[in-house]
Amino acid sequence: MIVMKFGGSSVANAERIRHVTDIIKMFLAERPVIVASAMGKTTDNLLAAAERAVNGQVCIEEICHLHYSVAAELQIETVEVQSLLDELKKLLEGISLIREVSARTKDYLVSFGERLSVRILAAHLSRVGVNARFFDAFDIGFVTNSDFTNAELLDDSYNRIGEAFAALQSDYVYTPIVTGFIAKDRNGAITTLGRGGSDLTASVIGAAIKAKEIMVWKDVDGILTTDPRVVPVAQPVKNISFEEASELAYFGAKVLHPRSMLPAMARNIPFRVKNSYNPSHPGTLILSRFDDKDELLRVLTLKKNVTLVDIVSTRMLGQYGFLARVFQIFDEQRISVDMLATSEVSISLTLDSRNGQLDGLKRELEKIANVGIKTGKTIITMVGNVRHSSEILEKTFKVLNTRGINVQMISQGASKVNISFIVDDAQGETCVQELHRVFFETAPAQV
Ligand code: ADP
Ligand code: ASP
Ligand code: MG
Repeated sequence: MIVMKFGGSSVANAERIRHVTDIIKMFLAERPVIVASAMGKTTDNLLAAAERAVNGQVCIEEICHLHYSVAAELQIETVEVQSLLDELKKLLEGISLIREVSARTKDYLVSFGERLSVRILAAHLSRVGVNARFFDAFDIGFVTNSDFTNAELLDDSYNRIGEAFAALQSDYVYTPIVTGFIAKDRNGAITTLGRGGSDLTASVIGAAIKAKEIMVWKDVDGILTTDPRVVPVAQPVKNISFEEASELAYFGAKVLHPRSMLPAMARNIPFRVKNSYNPSHPGTLILSRFDDKDELLRVLTLKKNVTLVDIVSTRMLGQYGFLARVFQIFDEQRISVDMLATSEVSISLTLDSRNGQLDGLKRELEKIANVGIKTGKTIITMVGNVRHSSEILEKTFKVLNTRGINVQMISQGASKVNISFIVDDAQGETCVQELHRVFFETAPAQV
């Protein structure tokens, strides 16, 4: 069996759903399990509707219109769609009364997007002769912790998911269409796996059923050398390793969910990124190993809106005590760190903007150190062959120097596939454009 996941842009409207149906039909002999995201921008629209409800307005016209009009155009029964949209309206009315929305309620709310899309896709497939059945992921074994909006899957999920599809392994009598992104916690509350979580759903199912391949279908020809919105001439990368793909997702390339490589990597299942708008393009194949042909760089990423923290010891504690106490404080405050550089008595590190309030962190750190917090920074990450790090760095600093771009911190990941550095947000995009030009747009002989 294989897993095929279709992201929001691949199922954005009736025409796209017809097109996806054709793609699924082409792969039926491979016995696919399908994973679908919410249609188009539905997740964003649901979150926006929650914000409006907090301000007293219930506004779901756009969401209703999209789903009803697509159902009508595809000539499918709307009972299921209608009952979900009615439930959604009640939920928004509830939010508008109490004027607040918790993380738990947000997850319940955004779950409507995926629940609607699988029902529509399955109904359409069945109507055109593919025997399809929709599933909400929590009904086939997806159980997470209760970290609403970014929940972690519990390990025992894999067995349950494997069992849910065991019969299909020997007798593929229907095509399952599963909601991406959503799950439930042990108490039965709906959770989500973090934005872009359908990639992770696909990877988890792939690992659970020991799929031959996991394909995620998007609107780009695979993983590109950098974000095409920053560099329109970015080119698809043919092969990449799981480790490299993990690093680039973690360091801001929005193309894959940061944790989506782990399940596929653990079972060594080939993972392919394909373009549903251009299905004949081979896309990017992610494997555990491949011949890297001595390329210097594979992908450049940027992660904006990062906070940089400089912590300089007041020497109240010895060196060991200092480092231990600093990390203990981060642990206590449940704040995660992306990048780190240390000297004997100082530590510089970056925090993701999603960490929220940093007052508690600052207060605790100031008991043992002088603390400087700077916002508005961008992490640029160069994922590539760090065996050639001197050459990469030489080229990089030459470009940055000519452009007068000041680097504020630099670190080379222990994973040996990335080098990251920090610049001001205002210079982030220019920096990526310049580096892309030097590393990818110039023929090697002329560099
Ligand atoms: P989907 O939700 O359909 O699975 P996403 O929208 O999450 O897909 O991811 C695809 C988008 O990621 C692309 O349209 C592109 O704008 C963006 N992107 C950012 N960095 C990269 C990159 N290095 N390679 C490819 N796409 C990228
Ligand atoms: N619909 C969710 C989102 O927009 C999950 C996904 O698309 O992967 O983040
Ligand atoms: Mg996505």
